[in-house]
Amino acid sequence: MAKLNPFEMSQKQLDICADILHLDPGTHAILRTPMRELHVSLPIRMDDGTIKVFQGFRVQYNDVKGPTKGGIRFHPDETIDTVRALAAWMTWKCALVDIPLGGGKGGIICNPKELSQGELERLSRTYIDKVFQFIGPDQDIPAPDVYTTPQIMSWMMDEYSKIAGKNQFGVITGKPMCIGGSVGRTDATARGGWYCVREAAKEFGIDLKGATVAIQGYGNAGYHAALLGQTIFGSTIVAVSDSKGGIYNPAGLDSQAVYEHKVKTGSVINFPGSEPITNEDLLELDVDILILAALEHVITGENATKIKAKIVAEAANGPTTPEADDILYEKGVHVIPDFLCNAGGVTVSYFEMVQNFNRYCWTEEEVHERLDERMTAAYHATLRGSKKYDVNMRRSAYVVAIERVVEAMQTHGWV
Ligand code: GLU
Repeated sequence: MAKLNPFEMSQKQLDICADILHLDPGTHAILRTPMRELHVSLPIRMDDGTIKVFQGFRVQYNDVKGPTKGGIRFHPDETIDTVRALAAWMTWKCALVDIPLGGGKGGIICNPKELSQGELERLSRTYIDKVFQFIGPDQDIPAPDVYTTPQIMSWMMDEYSKIAGKNQFGVITGKPMCIGGSVGRTDATARGGWYCVREAAKEFGIDLKGATVAIQGYGNAGYHAALLGQTIFGSTIVAVSDSKGGIYNPAGLDSQAVYEHKVKTGSVINFPGSEPITNEDLLELDVDILILAALEHVITGENATKIKAKIVAEAANGPTTPEADDILYEKGVHVIPDFLCNAGGVTVSYFEMVQNFNRYCWTEEEVHERLDERMTAAYHATLRGSKKYDVNMRRSAYVVAIERVVEAMQTHGWV
């Protein structure tokens, strides 16, 4: 199968919604392309004394609802089209959870696993030097994403502050707690996803206590999804996996013990008391809830007919192909689409910005309560749209988000 170009895919999804909403051609054209994009060359002195030039991007897709917001990815396969698509998705994501922010995304083509700490720090700081004039607490606020960490956010914030001549905590989110980070940011993506699953379970009459759950991926989102599912909702985590393989125990896995095993051995596989299972078989388990917390394109036209879960929660971006989406909808599988399901991360990032602006620190309860409010409202707005337009949850999420962005464009007088 030809690899889907993510930006073309995001434009296609927009085109379908433009039809449903009868958008005028001018409005549609504005929404089809990014407002601004930066391409920067980043010369870095490597540890061996040579200079290597890396390529970086920052795409500011649309700022009609507020400053642009979105993570920075460090990845060897990064492309401008991936960053454009993700920046568009951030625009819809922020509108869907109704936070006053637009969408952006950044990326550097690099393999962070091959860089020393010193090289990583120089790369992070140089990126900020090059994009300094175009970002800022009122303009564009980056955050962590694939392979970027709270430490990288700290270096970036520090570099920005040095150039600005004053501390600028509000320029970046996902910072460590000791320099302006927010409580509740670490598990925010998984927690927000579970709030959606809880609402879906009510809708479909599934009791989460004892409900069976399979999770593909055991990074930050996957691990916290397992832990929260088990500890808050009393669900049974029957299978989890990572890139090396999966583990299965119908009686339930201890999420924290699995995490400790992964830290010690580098993978979840060979966890005592579990049976091995492949990533492919895990997807097809007869469970109540399947959480996709790994890669793009894992449910495709080939395996969609074999999915038995009642609810599929997309913690990762883009795990279901458009072809698979149609098959799952026909089969009655309830998919909670990525930019709804994983919006908890940017929502708590927004809370971090609010706390930074006010120099105030919220408690964990305040963060959880406010996150719950926004995720629950976004879930129900999407469910209502899905019934109103008789479309799947993904299409409805687009329609709801785009309607809000368009309303802001009209009110501004852009169209
Ligand atoms: N990278 C995360 C996302 O894709 C978080 C973005 C943010 O916190 O700004 O939603």
